[in-house]
Amino acid sequence: MPELVATTETHPLPDGEVRLLGAVRCVTGAMTRVDTGDTRLLVDCGIVQGREARDWVFPEAAHDADALVLTHGHLDHVGSLPVLLDHGWDRPIFATAPTLEITAISLEDSLEMADASNKQVRDTLQRFRKLAKAVPYDTEIEASSRVKLAFREAGHILGSASVEIHSPKSRVILSGDLGRPESPILRDPNTQWSSARPIDVVVMESTYGARSHARSHDDVAHDLEEILAETIASKGKVLIPAFAIGRTQVLLYFLDALVEAGRLPDVPVAIDTPMGLAITETYKRFRRLYDKESLAKLSRGDDPLDFDDLFAVRKGQHSARVREMPGPMVVIAGSGMCTGGRIIRHLVDGLPEPENTVLFVGHQAEGTPGRRIQDAGARAGEVNLGGERVKVRARIRTLAGLSAHADRDELLAWLSHMPNVRRVALHHGEVEAQEALVAYARGPSGA
Ligand SMILES: [Zn+2]
Repeated sequence: MPELVATTETHPLPDGEVRLLGAVRCVTGAMTRVDTGDTRLLVDCGIVQGREARDWVFPEAAHDADALVLTHGHLDHVGSLPVLLDHGWDRPIFATAPTLEITAISLEDSLEMADASNKQVRDTLQRFRKLAKAVPYDTEIEASSRVKLAFREAGHILGSASVEIHSPKSRVILSGDLGRPESPILRDPNTQWSSARPIDVVVMESTYGARSHARSHDDVAHDLEEILAETIASKGKVLIPAFAIGRTQVLLYFLDALVEAGRLPDVPVAIDTPMGLAITETYKRFRRLYDKESLAKLSRGDDPLDFDDLFAVRKGQHSARVREMPGPMVVIAGSGMCTGGRIIRHLVDGLPEPENTVLFVGHQAEGTPGRRIQDAGARAGEVNLGGERVKVRARIRTLAGLSAHADRDELLAWLSHMPNVRRVALHHGEVEAQEALVAYARGPSGA
């Protein structure tokens, strides 16, 4: 096992260094600079969220790189791109084609949320598209005359990639966010690494460095079926606040599987999130990148992200009509932690009714409305939502096991496929998670 290094910003290379500019001791703001030989690469340009955001300043060292490389389209990896572009960035931006599409959708949504004018949104996207260069997986390209890079499958969301960079003297691999093997829709993270040269530094995410996911996908399907059956029997609505990128599509996959297996009665399922719909369209456009199971479903004529009773709600006024529809039905709407979006009005209407269920499908951070609903649900209390005091009488449930991040054993398994790793720099994890992972990798003997 190579040396795992937690919470250190700079890691030497034979002809340069790797420097973590963000996500050093936390899970947001991923940004890493790789200087090797005469070439300076910036990998990711994420936004900092939560408590770290207060005293964060955009790092100077991000500006003078020769190219930007994006691992995937989540905002904590691409959300500071408008700042970089506003500072006059005019060099290439490399990513897989789906990552470029998802990034454009994410940026548009986040700029609109920040009340940017239509012109600002248009200008930013135009500059981004002009510099964007799509790179297929497993295809080596020249970042400069001496430095080459390639994207390898990371299995986290569609288009997500680990990045392999090499110069005549150094070889660096950056994990990006790593998904779990066997995740629905997506291919597994890459395990085929060339053994021709040693790897000087691996920069690896460590979000769940302290955790072990115990639940299988069968457990998830079983829980989902049970929760749906219970609410449908009482003619209620199942309201699902869902993140648009990744989580909404995984949910559709599980619902489709239940429908195909005849385990879900005929009830309408509304997907009431414009961004979730846009991302789902991107998934469908790049279905050639699906894993074997989903490709097999497609070849049997079953679209794993679609089924008969699913309907898309695009316009705001149609969302109002969906709210008036009687149960039983299922509504998937953003945002994932109920911080805004169409889920708010569904919740204001639906939370006071005991026959309904609010089903959370992801972690609800401290201080978010989602967490307050979970807390209020436990004591049948009230929450402030959409400017109203709302009684929480609906059932509040959480579907565990849908994480899009590898746990500690899966992280170490990912590393174990790499020959001759000299140093592993941990990032994208809380200090406790990083230290727990280092201790776990050393084993009980501390060796
Ligand atoms: Zn991510």
